[in-house]
Amino acid sequence: MLQARSGSVTEEIREIAKIEGIAPEKLRTRIAEGRVVVLRNLRRSNLKIVALGEGLSTKVNVNVGTSGTVIKPEMEREKARIAAEYGADAIMDLSIGGPLDEIRRMIMDAAPNLPLGTVPTYQAWIEGVKKYGISMPDDWFLKVVEKQLKDGVDFMTIHAALTKDLAKRVVKSSRVMPIVSRGGAFLTAWMLENDEENPYRKHWDYLLELFAEYDAVISIGDALRPGAIADQHDEFQVGELIEAARLVRSAREKGVQTIVEGPGHMTLDQVVADIKFMKSLTGGAPYYVLGPLVTDIAMGYDHIAAAIGGAIAAAAGADFLCYLTPAEHLSLPNPEQVKEGLIAAKIAAHAGDLVKLGSRAARKDLELSLFRAKLRWDKMFSYAFDPERAKGIYAQFGLQTQACNMCGQYCACLILEKYFKGRKEPSIDDLVKRYESSISKNFEL
Ligand code: SF4
Repeated sequence: MLQARSGSVTEEIREIAKIEGIAPEKLRTRIAEGRVVVLRNLRRSNLKIVALGEGLSTKVNVNVGTSGTVIKPEMEREKARIAAEYGADAIMDLSIGGPLDEIRRMIMDAAPNLPLGTVPTYQAWIEGVKKYGISMPDDWFLKVVEKQLKDGVDFMTIHAALTKDLAKRVVKSSRVMPIVSRGGAFLTAWMLENDEENPYRKHWDYLLELFAEYDAVISIGDALRPGAIADQHDEFQVGELIEAARLVRSAREKGVQTIVEGPGHMTLDQVVADIKFMKSLTGGAPYYVLGPLVTDIAMGYDHIAAAIGGAIAAAAGADFLCYLTPAEHLSLPNPEQVKEGLIAAKIAAHAGDLVKLGSRAARKDLELSLFRAKLRWDKMFSYAFDPERAKGIYAQFGLQTQACNMCGQYCACLILEKYFKGRKEPSIDDLVKRYESSISKNFEL
């Protein structure tokens, strides 16, 4: 951020600009202003460049990690491998069971090129309670952050926007679910037990120094995100977001990259307003959203509820989607559920980008549709998020015609084939122009 602010268009900026298809100078300005951040830790080399923010494609994060009751590090390693194979942009290790340092390093090794995120409050709480009891000293929280930064963690959820006052009030509130954030719950318990301010707030300046040293990213956590649609946009969610915006401003002054986390459960009509409000409040900081889940009752299919909200959020300007799996609200996911959740989130991100970025994101769709019109199955599969699954479904009843088995010999493309002769097929460039003029980039509901 500081290099960009000094006017320098670095090699890295040029590379991101090339990947994303935007002008390097425009990107430099956005990095300088904190509207774009790069997930990284100076200690890690060979990391894939993953930039988040205004005008860039929407990225997807996959959460992995042990639970308190299901501790299978090998399974978590497999989930990280799947995340890398199916195109996650980042992984968060949310482990809360077993040897936490060891598991984190194992996950990093399983996906060495992907930026890794953590929530250090988990390790601070779990190991701190064993070491000191619930009254662990406040600098203990910082020591854990420092250790994880030294280990190469690229971005961390820091729940610094949760004030003692908000915590005290939310636990006595009439919210359906006062706090659904695990890190938020740990910190609330610590603040209430010790009658102390949030350690991350108290030592915010020191935290900024630490993150500046590693050029790692602070993801300001949303401890008070709504965990039910009845709690959306209440004083607690909004109050925490206002605090987050203040923290973003102070981090920018020190050249520390920050992103802000968001909801949570939220109905369709509120999603666009939420994104626009957050962007306006934070001066365009990258927004990292969990879902949003547009209904509370999709158990077993919450990855779909989240993808619906995620697509609208991305179209409206959200920058980073945290995937949800079919196991959300029910269990730690298994590897297959991780894959399903990731692909649902990638579809949501892409659907959003088709609106947000226009034809920059649409090329693959336009190419695929030309092959689809010609029944070119060999070409079509290469565009699938999971080509093997697409091929398997295509061939599941055996193949008898050039068409698929939905209509067989009564395929519309086959019936009308002879009448199409002599038709002028559109070129990709024609389609790009047509697409650009057909979409509305100022997405509003
Ligand atoms: S058979 Fe039916 S579903 Fe399949 S490609 Fe032809 S029109 Fe489409």
